[in-house]
Amino acid sequence: MNQANIIPYGRQSISEADIQAVVDVLRSDFLTQGPVVPAFEEAVATYCHVRHGVAVSNATAALHIACLSIGLGPGDWLWTSPITFVASANCGLYCGAQVDFVDIDPHTFNMSVVALEKKLIVAKLKGMLPKVVVPVHMCGQPCDMEAIHALSIKYGFKIIEDASHAIGAKYKGEPVGNCRYSDITVFSFHPVKIITTAEGGLAVTNQTELAQKMNLLRSHGISSTPSDMEQRPADEIWNYQQIDLGFNYRMTEMQAALGLSQLQKLDHFVATRQSIAWFYDQALASVDIQTPWQHPDGLSSFHLYPIQVTATSGISQQTLYQALTQAGVKVNLHYIPVYRQPYYARLGFKPGYCPNAEDYFKSSISIPVFASMTATQQHRVLELIQSLCLPKVLKRVVGAGL
Ligand SMILES: *Cc1c(COP(=O)(O)O)cnc(C)c1O
Repeated sequence: MNQANIIPYGRQSISEADIQAVVDVLRSDFLTQGPVVPAFEEAVATYCHVRHGVAVSNATAALHIACLSIGLGPGDWLWTSPITFVASANCGLYCGAQVDFVDIDPHTFNMSVVALEKKLIVAKLKGMLPKVVVPVHMCGQPCDMEAIHALSIKYGFKIIEDASHAIGAKYKGEPVGNCRYSDITVFSFHPVKIITTAEGGLAVTNQTELAQKMNLLRSHGISSTPSDMEQRPADEIWNYQQIDLGFNYRMTEMQAALGLSQLQKLDHFVATRQSIAWFYDQALASVDIQTPWQHPDGLSSFHLYPIQVTATSGISQQTLYQALTQAGVKVNLHYIPVYRQPYYARLGFKPGYCPNAEDYFKSSISIPVFASMTATQQHRVLELIQSLCLPKVLKRVVGAGL
């Protein structure tokens, strides 16, 4: 297959303005720890209607320091969704905490609030309530944050939203990331996500103390702010102090410049993704496959568009996956339930642990959606799927026993 004919499931959109913004930084005084990172943090915080932003090297790092700033540690539990990228769970293990999974809602693919409440009731009896719950806005569709927040008050856990898929999405008319129903929200700027900084991530919060702690942790736990420092003999020069055990999780100035430039196109990118999703919704209505349902409370950023093969689709998930891949449509699978990964299986998780997650895993395929996707590419994806799956009308005829 000619490389030019391959359609990826996701990719970045880089403009000349983006390139110029990076070049401008390369010609400036600072490549790291300059003025652009704080400008990017402030711009994202303003966009999200939230007080503080802390930019880091990637969303995995953001999840790690978000957990640490909340005080997650050995003896604690972190709960998340099994249908997510492994980083949503790994951050708990990095802190020495234990990780558990709450099954998904089969319609939204997000953590099920009903399953969460049931699990909380049992955990309370056992004295094993989670310290942190990490809801993941799967595909860009916001979780039922108001309900999860109500449970957090009742059961006393903190909330870190993994919004790696969801910058630009809306929940009840407000931007994801405003932290109205959470302590911290984390975004990823990996090139397949909504906007990119190559590698990059950002944590937002309304709580000044958490922002300060994350700020310290992303840069070795070192501060040169006098008010942060302990008293030292006056005849010694103490221009910085290591106050905590931190990391080098900093974002560079070039990345932040790319992010600032990309942010200006965020609403346009999201609108384009929504219109591609709408096109798929309409066009695939004639085919016997399941298109992703949207909850009326949210406006998805459509990082992903998963279709689900049903018993009457006339093709198996594996065959459809292979046929699309061979035709140059680089579909993907989001996700293998995290606890099924060999590493998590060794921690004792068994196949079948979250039945809805497994059903989704065995039926879903993420088809291409990205802001620079052409109409020709969209039609090619659509026509392939139409040629491989049974039309819906045939199902009715079969169903009628003819
Ligand atoms: C991409 C992603 C991450 C990790 O993001 P990085 O920036 O690559 O570290 C975490 N969680 C989810 C749900 C993701 O999709």
